[in-house]
Amino acid sequence: MTKKTQKQNPSFDVADLAVVGGGLTGFAMALSAAHHGVTIALIDRAPKGQKGDETRTTTINPKSYQHLSDLGVIEAFEAKAHVLTPICEIRVSDEKTRPQPGLARPDELITWSNDQHDTPLGFVFRNAEMMAVMQDLVHSHPLITCFNDITVTDFSPKHPDYGDAAAAVYTETGDVIAARLVVAADGRNSPIRQAAGIKAITRNPGQTAVVADIKTAKPHHNMAWQRFIKGGPAALMPVDNDRLMSLVWTLPDHDAEVLIAADDASFSQSLMDHFGHGFGQLTVSGPRLTWPLRLSHVPLPIASRLMLAGDAAHAIHPLAGQGYNLAIGDAMALSTLIENAIATGSDLGAKSGLRRYAQDRFKETTAMTLATDGLNAVFSFGGPVTTAITGMGMALLNASPLKNLAIKAASGGLSKSR
Ligand SMILES: Cc1cc2nc3c(=O)[nH]c(=O)nc-3n(C[C@H](O)[C@H](O)[C@H](O)COP(=O)(O)OP(=O)(O)OC[C@H]3O[C@@H](n4cnc5c(N)ncnc54)[C@H](O)[C@@H]3O)c2cc1C
Repeated sequence: MTKKTQKQNPSFDVADLAVVGGGLTGFAMALSAAHHGVTIALIDRAPKGQKGDETRTTTINPKSYQHLSDLGVIEAFEAKAHVLTPICEIRVSDEKTRPQPGLARPDELITWSNDQHDTPLGFVFRNAEMMAVMQDLVHSHPLITCFNDITVTDFSPKHPDYGDAAAAVYTETGDVIAARLVVAADGRNSPIRQAAGIKAITRNPGQTAVVADIKTAKPHHNMAWQRFIKGGPAALMPVDNDRLMSLVWTLPDHDAEVLIAADDASFSQSLMDHFGHGFGQLTVSGPRLTWPLRLSHVPLPIASRLMLAGDAAHAIHPLAGQGYNLAIGDAMALSTLIENAIATGSDLGAKSGLRRYAQDRFKETTAMTLATDGLNAVFSFGGPVTTAITGMGMALLNASPLKNLAIKAASGGLSKSR
């Protein structure tokens, strides 16, 4: 089988791993596996060269940064002169306070700074830049065979030729890819998850995320700002340079439509109304994009010779910027599975390894799903009771043990495999 052919017969001998989905998760899974010397078939329905969105940004925590660095991704990213913007301070506030840099009120505003830490609290990259870099890495990796522009239509734990010894990944072109283990990294609607009959708990929060670049009149000094306001949380993350921030604002669907249709001056005024004047004038710059939110959680993200990863296993509210961090946690757990299989000479798709993967990921993905969903529910849709809770919310969150736990979670410290 020729490497990286498109629309040709992709049936080659049994691959150790087949990764369905060439998004940020599929790339991280494939590169993590290749790091351990196994062979991989990576299949994506998009043509080669698909780009992530220019306006979308992703914040990763130090653990994810370290893993991507171990895989050579960070080095390749920086070699392209792309910027990974460090976050040195995170400020969180609620409806009652309007944050002003330098004027934090400790009882109502959480401020996390990296004074006590050696490394930044997180890093922000542009999705389009990271997609391009990771795409180059997987396409040039000798152990990864990429099949682009091919839609996967079905999955079976038994291959027609290899029986129980390999799973089968069926494509729209009528081809069948054989692999010891299949990773479904095919996004929140995961066709593979559905084909395998794996149950997901899904919820439509009735919110849409609005994303845009925002110019600030004053320098942001690498601060990230999270506001828990009625209707949905809003965050400004530092990106690219000292006067540019990336907005992710989740609002009720209708309000998002209104905001997206507003002229630049009205849009900027809404921002100033909600974020205050701490950064001086805030001006929307470039396109504004929307993402209707659909949340899902898969308590048992495995089946025979199959594991789910990334949004296919857990699509969470973006308020804490943790979705991709969970995916990197999945990639680390896959690394552990492969290391164990190699050490014991066992089948990569063995049930015992898959069960350990599910156990390993359960705590962190469930905790993050509940935390983000709960925070969103309490702060966004407050009735009389929740308003009282919300009143206590920031003070509670600022209480030392909870704050420490939140910092631990945000920096990627809840998973067993790390
Ligand atoms: C507004 C917003 C802001 C966010 N900010 C952050 C953040 O700051 N930090 C963070 O950690 N996370 C963040 N997230 C979450 C993060 O973006 C996602 O968790 C992550 O992008 C999921 O990537 P994925 O590869 O799992 O899924 P996707 O990006 O959906 O990729 C799925 C891939 O599978 C392919 N595919 C699908 N079906 C098939 C098929 N049948 N055959 C072949 N290929 C198929 C698709 O072509 C695609 O390439 C944010 C999310 C949103 C919505």
